[in-house]
Amino acid sequence: MKEPLVPQARAPQPRAPQPREPQPQAPRPQAPRRGDELAASPAPKRASNPRTKAQAQDSRVHNRALVLATLYHGSAMSRAELSRVSGLTAPTVSALVADLEADGLVADVEPPRDSGRRRGKPSMLVAIQDDAVNLVTLDLSPAGAFRGAVMNLRGKVLARGRVPIGDALGAQAAALVPQLAAELVAAAPGRVLGIGVASPGIIDRQGVIRQAAHLGWNDLPVAAGLADAFGVPAHAGNDVNLAALAALHFGRTTAQSLMVVGIEHGVGAGLIVDGKLVEGEQFAAGEIGHLTVDPDGERCVCGRRGCLDPLIDAARLKERLAGATADERASVLSTAGVALGRILAPIASALNLNEIGVMGPADLVEGPLTDTAQLTARAYTLSPISASLHVRSLSSDLDLPLLGAACKVLSGELGVL
Ligand SMILES: [Zn+2]
Repeated sequence: MKEPLVPQARAPQPRAPQPREPQPQAPRPQAPRRGDELAASPAPKRASNPRTKAQAQDSRVHNRALVLATLYHGSAMSRAELSRVSGLTAPTVSALVADLEADGLVADVEPPRDSGRRRGKPSMLVAIQDDAVNLVTLDLSPAGAFRGAVMNLRGKVLARGRVPIGDALGAQAAALVPQLAAELVAAAPGRVLGIGVASPGIIDRQGVIRQAAHLGWNDLPVAAGLADAFGVPAHAGNDVNLAALAALHFGRTTAQSLMVVGIEHGVGAGLIVDGKLVEGEQFAAGEIGHLTVDPDGERCVCGRRGCLDPLIDAARLKERLAGATADERASVLSTAGVALGRILAPIASALNLNEIGVMGPADLVEGPLTDTAQLTARAYTLSPISASLHVRSLSSDLDLPLLGAACKVLSGELGVL
């Protein structure tokens, strides 16, 4: 996205009850607080009940994520401040911080020198260690090659890898995924926290690629395969969905509802509504490629006529643009933009979206295609929607799917997103 590249601290996504952005709070009542059960001496009778044990474990996992998320989205803070912001008791915070320190995820740091005139030794602050662990991220969507990166906890790229795929399909293409992962795991300077995969296709919550037609994959358990091969947790998601998550979490937009449209390997969209990814009942939310633009249009591979996919798919556009003059080129891309805009308008209206990004080759996406898509989508929507609706090219942000894969690991392993 070109305009609102506003890096910003962001409140954690409201999955499990998690902390909001640290902010001044009214004094909390002294009623029982979350985490007290962890600070209390274990009661043998209760602990012998497996269910109680499981609840205590859940609570510990939750509280650990709460402390990490508070630090990840805020700045370094003292244990007392962490207790106040998180709502956990001081002993619970101390125990969790000790645990996280042992894992290397947080460390004590000196407070800034000008942080107050109080006498005596100031409290040490607890800070997230951004480089303590590494994330290995893979993007299986680019044409011609799988890409990957080693990242720190903030998505900073520490190393990159790439494996050409040529004409590989099915098992042959699938074998290249652990090959690339192995290269990146070996390049990681620190412990690998987990592997995240952004792949084209329909992918379920267990990280099984149910269908990725252009790679010839059906029911490929990509996450489980990588977890088994490397002994670390692995997560996978649809590339466009993950790009949308990355736009949300890595400061590409200030919007909490947005849509990313990909035009390579078929046309698909990732939807974020109120800060949450919308996956749909069959994990196929955003499959907009075969919506009808023109009922009398050309016959599509799906059997219907005038679908969006053949009108804006990158490979089909390239075919149509071969040998075109500049005027013809602008005309073809504008026609594609009109088709996209027609499909975007009802979606933007239904969800009151302000931000729609288009991913694909820059020479196709930037210019007439996105400009006309925006004009058309605006023309087909009422002014309260259209006035703030922006359709932008994301083609220069090549790392978005990789950053989205990092989001999957950060969310799945640390609970900070
Ligand atoms: Zn179709």
